[in-house]
Amino acid sequence: MSLHNAKRAEEMRIGGFQKLSLLDYPGKLSAIVFTAGCNFRCPFCYVPYLVLPEIIKKSRKVPIEHIFSYLKKRKNFIDAVVVTGGEPTIHEDLPDFIRELKSMGFLVALETNGSDFGMLRRLIDDRLIDYVEIDIKAPLTFEKYNRAVGDVLTPKVFGNVKASVNLLLKSRIDYEFRTTLVKELHTKEDILEICRSIKGAKKYYLQNLKRTGFFVGGKKLTPFREEEIMEILNEGRKIVNVTYRK
Ligand code: SF4
Repeated sequence: MSLHNAKRAEEMRIGGFQKLSLLDYPGKLSAIVFTAGCNFRCPFCYVPYLVLPEIIKKSRKVPIEHIFSYLKKRKNFIDAVVVTGGEPTIHEDLPDFIRELKSMGFLVALETNGSDFGMLRRLIDDRLIDYVEIDIKAPLTFEKYNRAVGDVLTPKVFGNVKASVNLLLKSRIDYEFRTTLVKELHTKEDILEICRSIKGAKKYYLQNLKRTGFFVGGKKLTPFREEEIMEILNEGRKIVNVTYRK
């Protein structure tokens, strides 16, 4: 990494690093970088240590040079790096970080909540990312979306989310959309509404709420029943390429 880029990327706080994954980049061996900090507060989020500032402050920071030194040694073994969070695009030095990964020859996937349309477009235009995953939290209406992101949505950010979704629908980049199913936030009709709003999408995955100890919203939440998910899939498949990811 050049000195200039190293200095800038050091500003980006990394909250976790997974050295190897067989699942997170389609068909490739990948490593996963978790950036710390997020502008949303999705009640069902199960990584509070990457979202809530009071927990982030007390958590271990992963030195960026450890990541690059690990990746450098495994360049011939690992194909891709998945950058996720938290929300990676809140870090203005993200493009520098990714540029360095690209210069090492890795494919790069970005998982984002779509709230920074400008950065997403730049990363795609500059060919810095090869795969994008956007979480669609709820039907694309302000009230429902706001509830699903913890009441922190502004009209501007909501506009960005919609623009990011549309960008992927029109772009040639490989991508997927996905939604985490939560009884307290979604009905079957909500999910079908999302299906209709992304008609023609390459891939749309539904994943059920994970039962974990602690969600960002601090409340107990309920996953969907398997038969309810099957019902959604039966109808949703008539609209879009939707799959259940267990
Ligand atoms: S699930 Fe929501 S709160 Fe958690 S990291 Fe993603 S966007 Fe942020």
